[in-house]
Amino acid sequence: MSETIEKVKCLIIGSGPAGYTAAIYAARANMSPVLYQGAQPGGQLTTTNEVENFPGYPEGITGPEMMIQLQKQAERFEADVRDGWITKVDFSGDVHKVWVNDTKEIHCDTVIISTGASAKYLGLESEQKYLKLGGGVSACAVCDGFFYRNQEVVIVGAGDSACEEAHYLSKLCKKVTMLVRRDEFRASKIMAERVKNTPNIEILFNTETEEVLGDGQVVTGVKVFNNQTDEKHEIPATGFFVAIGHKPNTDIFKDYLDLDETGYIINVPGTSKTNVEGVFVSGDAADHVYRQAITAAGTGCMAALDAERWLAAKDTTFEVNTSIYN
Ligand SMILES: Cc1cc2nc3c(=O)[nH]c(=O)nc-3n(C[C@H](O)[C@H](O)[C@H](O)COP(=O)(O)OP(=O)(O)OC[C@H]3O[C@@H](n4cnc5c(N)ncnc54)[C@H](O)[C@@H]3O)c2cc1C
Repeated sequence: MSETIEKVKCLIIGSGPAGYTAAIYAARANMSPVLYQGAQPGGQLTTTNEVENFPGYPEGITGPEMMIQLQKQAERFEADVRDGWITKVDFSGDVHKVWVNDTKEIHCDTVIISTGASAKYLGLESEQKYLKLGGGVSACAVCDGFFYRNQEVVIVGAGDSACEEAHYLSKLCKKVTMLVRRDEFRASKIMAERVKNTPNIEILFNTETEEVLGDGQVVTGVKVFNNQTDEKHEIPATGFFVAIGHKPNTDIFKDYLDLDETGYIINVPGTSKTNVEGVFVSGDAADHVYRQAITAAGTGCMAALDAERWLAAKDTTFEVNTSIYN
């Protein structure tokens, strides 16, 4: 029995701000995009309550509500939004092959990758509890720091991003306690010096988190221990920030696309192009610097425009977007 293969002009992988923005632009450009949502429909923002920094929402909006609106906007222009996880790709030939849930095969003229990145957490039960409750655990200081103005917070991490986030928080919060597992920073000297020279940042070296403390609803403090002396103490805090890195969701592309050492897709600077013709990238999957919904949306727009121009230059003639062949 021959397998049914679907042919698609523009396939979008991922349903965060990048994927839906790409879908809006691609649909309005008559590219009949098909978008696969993956395991987290709506992406990272579905794990947060208030989004206050996305332009156009003067009163703020919850992350899940914002993502429903983006989906509706894409569907209004007939973007085909589907459930499904892309498990395998083959970008070795002229036709880009993609498999959904290891079974369905799709042949695509263009592919827009918007698979995002996942913040790493410590994995403590108490951390996950308050993360799920939206009660004071965050992996994004730029997103959530504002909610802790004039309060005391704790941040975990030792790299450049952790230093940058600690410094950002120090401008908003009364006090920032930084927990560094080793006896030195991993960050560059200049970033470490900046943190060390900030009066309201206290750095505790050789210090790890034992438990995030709370009242059942919100964080009230952090129990820490010195990994050299095993001495324990509690730090009062209303916010617990985790800045130990992100993992881009790009494993399935590694045999075909250029990735950096962390796994972020390398794009041609100033564009959404990857090293493979017809394959474009948007959002956090290629962005270890900004990691914001608005920048993801912006690069989603770029990817759709780049894909449209690439198709136009090829003068591809597709009869119908989702025609079945074989
Ligand atoms: C708790 C939290 C709060 C935040 N708050 C803010 C905020 O207030 N303001 C702000 O601007 N930013 C905020 N951010 C950052 C923001 O969420 C991200 O920058 C943004 O969501 C990135 O968008 P994206 O489209 O690149 O990817 P994501 O939102 O990460 O979405 C990735 C999508 O790809 C899909 N996917 C992954 N792999 C596959 C696959 N193999 N097949 C199919 N689909 C796949 C997933 O299911 C998901 O739908 C926050 C992040 C977190 C974690």
